[in-house]
Amino acid sequence: MNRRIETAEILAIGSELLTPFRVDTNSLFLTARLNELGVVVRRKAVVGDRRDDLAACVREALARVDLVITTGGLGPTDDDLTREVVADVLRRTLTVDETILAGIEARFARRGVPMPAINRRQACVPDGATVLPNSEGTAPGLLLEHEGRLIALLPGPPREMQPMFARAIAPLVEARSPGRRLQRRVVKVTGRSESQVEEIANPIYTSLNRDGVVVDTTILATPGQIEVHLESAGEDQQAIAAVLDEGVARLAAALSPAVFSTDGRTLEDVVGDTLRARGWRVAVAESCTGGLLGGRLTEVPGSSAYVLGGVIAYDNAVKIRDLDVPASTIDEHGAVSEPVAAAMAAGVRRRFGAEIGVAITGIAGPGGGTAAKPVGTVCIAVATPDTVTARTLLFPGDRDAIRRHSTSAALDMVRRALSV
Ligand code: AMP
Ligand code: MG
Repeated sequence: MNRRIETAEILAIGSELLTPFRVDTNSLFLTARLNELGVVVRRKAVVGDRRDDLAACVREALARVDLVITTGGLGPTDDDLTREVVADVLRRTLTVDETILAGIEARFARRGVPMPAINRRQACVPDGATVLPNSEGTAPGLLLEHEGRLIALLPGPPREMQPMFARAIAPLVEARSPGRRLQRRVVKVTGRSESQVEEIANPIYTSLNRDGVVVDTTILATPGQIEVHLESAGEDQQAIAAVLDEGVARLAAALSPAVFSTDGRTLEDVVGDTLRARGWRVAVAESCTGGLLGGRLTEVPGSSAYVLGGVIAYDNAVKIRDLDVPASTIDEHGAVSEPVAAAMAAGVRRRFGAEIGVAITGIAGPGGGTAAKPVGTVCIAVATPDTVTARTLLFPGDRDAIRRHSTSAALDMVRRALSV
């Protein structure tokens, strides 16, 4: 009986992928597709065009997982070694396949050039391999079985590799592990640090595994946002869904009100949907974020329904002239202060005729910090028809991170103002 395919390893082959100039994107595509089929990627490696390194990687991968996928190194040049090395590791002889050779020659003939002799290598097939036709290029892929495990050799160029995976590998995986799927839930949190989230979430996800459902968890942190991913692969989709949904519900309850999304929506989406539901429109006044908040709000298609516009009030003169911030408030408290943020939010709200005004003023650095207001000090205010709320926050990181944190915190203050 054929072994089920539940685990995979990906080898991205090519010395160019070890330079600062090229990045391995094939493994991201393959991981996404394999996950959909319920296959867990246990390891991936980027390996240069060196025979010994490549052989070691192939040997190790074959000892670990059900399916090994390599990409790259199937070209015609001397540094393209994948075919030979895999044949060597599996002790298979390589023979030129005349049908493939004729196909490659025909491809060149259509372009009106004779096939260079070096392209013969691309017609070499190890004993017992299945040839995977390449609709987009010269090098066919190869599929081999070794002691019950599969190894697929796919071309490097994404536009050749992707259709080959879809046509030859995905159906095979599906046939070997019918009904197997990976389900994933994402709980998105803002306004908490990674360790705060982990502390609260850890006891929950360690208690989730039951009914044969094993839940894997990952925490992803970006400035201003933490994501907790819960995922589980298997055949019983109902049991998996039940366990994951319970996990999401328990996490949402424990981390509330910092959880803003459990259904894939971004913070911008959630704020937009809430504004739309209320029939409210927003205007923004931005100092240190220079338009990033307006940018994030308007990334959402259809945001013209609730975004009126904004003012980039970087200079104090603009805060005074276009947002009616009293000069005396700036003199007394400084441009980065809660009273100034509050005046900016109220001013932009009034000037634009919006229901809700949001303002950000802060020190993004690297210069401009003081002992009282170090770099990362940001004041954010939200003005609604009833109240103006201002907060001072201190964000870590460089200028980019501080600006990103600031916009996330501002969006989150809008979300919370709308939830009351
Ligand atoms: P090769 O099959 O090794 O000759 O690779 C041909 C081309 O495919 C390379 O020059 C890259 O542009 C591209 N390529 C190879 N491997 C990858 C990868 N892992 N991710 C993205 N592109 C790749
Ligand atoms: Mg290469």
